[in-house]
Amino acid sequence: MIDEKTREDLNKCLPVYSAPEDEAEHFYACPTCGQLVDMRRLGDVVYHAEEEHELLPVNDP
Ligand SMILES: [Zn+2]
Repeated sequence: MIDEKTREDLNKCLPVYSAPEDEAEHFYACPTCGQLVDMRRLGDVVYHAEEEHELLPVNDP
């Protein structure tokens, strides 16, 4: 059985997040085509790792 902590006590145990991440930290400029690549999108990263490739279509608003 869980000990006698109240909900408020438990809520205080949750991690406190620091300031939101800087979105720009997730991007790098591809040295081949110059397009900005989102490193969270593995498919895009692998695509830009190819020696020769075209710009990817931008489908995000
Ligand atoms: Zn590229």
